[in-house]
Formats: sequence, C-alpha cells, structure tokens
Amino acid sequence: MTSTSVIQPALDIAAIRSQFPILHREVKGKPLVYFDNAATAQKPQVVIDALVNYYSHYNANIHRGIHTLAEEATAGFEATRDAFRHFVNARHREEIIITKGTTESINLVAYTWARQQLQAGDEVIISGMEHHSNIVPWQIICAEKQASLKVIPVDDNGELVLEEYYKLLTPRTKLVSVVHVSNALGTVNPVKDIISAAHNAGAKVFIDGAQSAVHLDIDVQELDCDFFACSVHKLYGPTGVGMLYGKKELLAEMPVFLGGGEMIKEVSFEQTTYADLPYKYEAGTPNIADTVATAAALNYVQEIGKANIRAHEDELLQHATSRLLTIDGLTIIGRAKEKTSLISFVIDGIHPQDVGILLDNRGIAVRTGHHCAQPLMARFKIPGTIRASFAVYNTLEEVDALLAGLQHAVKLLR
Ligand code: PMP
Repeated sequence: MTSTSVIQPALDIAAIRSQFPILHREVKGKPLVYFDNAATAQKPQVVIDALVNYYSHYNANIHRGIHTLAEEATAGFEATRDAFRHFVNARHREEIIITKGTTESINLVAYTWARQQLQAGDEVIISGMEHHSNIVPWQIICAEKQASLKVIPVDDNGELVLEEYYKLLTPRTKLVSVVHVSNALGTVNPVKDIISAAHNAGAKVFIDGAQSAVHLDIDVQELDCDFFACSVHKLYGPTGVGMLYGKKELLAEMPVFLGGGEMIKEVSFEQTTYADLPYKYEAGTPNIADTVATAAALNYVQEIGKANIRAHEDELLQHATSRLLTIDGLTIIGRAKEKTSLISFVIDGIHPQDVGILLDNRGIAVRTGHHCAQPLMARFKIPGTIRASFAVYNTLEEVDALLAGLQHAVKLLR
C-alpha cells in the first residue's frame, strides 16, 4: 500500500487550529503567529495525549520484559516502526531504523556504510544547499578515508545545476547525498533524476528528507533511494525521534554503529554477535515515549493528507510571495520553479535579526540567520535571511500580519 494522498475539498483550518493548544497562547500580548515550522512544528492534542497516556498507563522498558507493561510499551514502539514503514512505503519493516532524528541517521550511515566502503581517492557528492548535518559527517569520514567531497552548484534561482552534477559523477563516486527540500530556500530537488543518474554511475544515494517528509508523499521504493532520513519533530510529532530507511541488503551488510544492549545476540569477553535488523542499529534504551507518540503524529499527517497540506501551504506561499514583494528593497532568496512551504528573504540595509526581534514584539515567530546552511549563504553572499515557514495550521490572515509587521519594521529601521 502506498502513502499517496488524495486531494479533498479545502481543509477546515479553524478546526485544525483548534487541535493545537499552543496556537491559543499569546506572545507579548498578541496572538501567536508561528512561522518557524521548518525548525520544528507544533504538536496537536492527539500527540500530546499519546505521550501522557504512555507515561500514565504503560511506561516500561521495551523488548526485554515479559510483564504486561513491557509488552504494551514494546507493542507501542513497534507500532511506530510499522507506521514509518507505511509513511515512506518501505518494502520491509526491518528497513526502518528508529533514531534520534535526521542528524543521527546521517551520522549512522557515515560511520558505518561510508567508513567501510570509502577508500582513498573515492568521491562523495553533496549539494551546495545542504544543511550542516548533511555536510559535516561526510567531511569527517572523507578526511578519515582520504576521499574527496564534491559539491553540486546552486544557481541564482536556488536550483541545483544538474548539468554540473552529471559531470561530477565518475567511477570514483561512491555516494551522492542530497537534500529533498531545502530548509533555507524551499527548493524541491529533482531527486528521482539525481538518484537514477547516481545509480547509473554505480553510486549509492542518501536523501535528506528532513524538510520533505511533511509536505511531499514519500515512496522510497518508487524513488529507489538507498537511504532516506527524516525527523518527527518537523512532522507535528515529538522531538528526539527520527527514522533512517535503508535498503535491506545494505543495512544487513553494514558494520554496527553504537555498541551496547539491545543490538547484540550474544556477548562474551572473546566475541560478540549482533542482533538482526533493525535492532542491530538500535543500541541502548531508546526514546520510548516519544517514539510511541510518533505513530499518532504520522497518522495525523496521513489523515489530513499530504496533498491537502501541500495545497494549503502552496496557497500561503503564493500569497506571501506576492505580498512581500510589495516591500521596497525586499529580495526573495530562492525562486525555484519547484518550491514549497517557506519563503526566505533579505531586505536592503536591514539586518535580519533586527527584523526578527521586531516581529517577535508582534507575536510573530520567524527564523533569522544562516539556517545551518552557511555555505549556501556564502553562495548568495549574504550573512543570513529572514525565513517564514508554513504549516497546515497557518492562515492567509497570518501572512497579512507578517506583511504588516515587515512594513512596520522597515519604517523603523530605515
Ligand atoms: N536537514 C535539513 C534539511 C534540515 O532542515 C534539518 C533540521 N533543520 C536537518 C537536516 C537536521 O534535522 P535534526 O536537527 O532534526 O536532526
């Protein structure tokens, strides 16, 4: 069964908003306008209830107890693995490794697969719009293995220059690791083409889905990526939980990552044998409560339907784009044809942080700075941007409040 969603008539945004308790609070005496969803999304009551329910009724350590609470906690934890499997349409449940988040998922593959596979002179390709978490782990492993890191350039619109990518692929390319949706530009990358070109060159592909998983239908079988990662806190779920999808044959052959309890079959002082997939990569007591509550978040997203979420966010994005461009001296960074859910911009002569502070005084939360993408900021020769990122509960009126806040900021700061 795939996770393809069906577009329904317009969503009832008021009803959706009522499911998020935090949206009813005020900030600095004003109703909260939360536009920092690319950093982390707010949580609906069903997710909060799932957390409280776990701690109130079946908190126990998982996998090793025979008592009722341990069995219930284990069932809750493993139900999330099934929910993830469905969410990304993985072929096997053993292909889903539960991690702390995208960052840990990338590091897991860097320290296992890449450390084993890379040899001196090999190449890893990333792109010029990566988050630091999809740069630094590869840098560390490339330095250790004397491999080199190549970078797909980004054009002025914030799109990857694919002709340059194709030229970078060589018989020495072992891995291509690219972001699906840029957290700093909103660009949706043509990952299917990127993956098939890499495979033709004999390379494996890692897709950083931190920003795509909540907006786009993800079908890892259709994409044919070798690895895919996402973080649940950007999916209306708890912090501290993420997923690594890996093709079974790769995960089975990779060396282990963290050693400890849970990831073993048998331990003696002479020798240890390791557990089967997926437990081989899940050492120690995991974040049980948040993982259990993750199923509620994934179901919540599936029930609304990603196509509906995206259609709503696209409307917000179009409205924001046309309204913000009326501000004198405002430049949008990232004008890709395929773009989703966020708008990043600079205003001539005004520091992004000053704008952020003035917006906060009006209860409007945006992110300012480099968005953990310093090389991308260097590419655009800017220190950072102001970023408004949207979620299903945001409204056109909130975009208008942002516009008013920006007009006010420009008047004060110019
Ligand atoms: N990649 C991208 C594109 C992101 O936006 C983020 C989070 N901002 C990450 C990776 C890292 O995710 P996390 O901090 O949840 O591990």
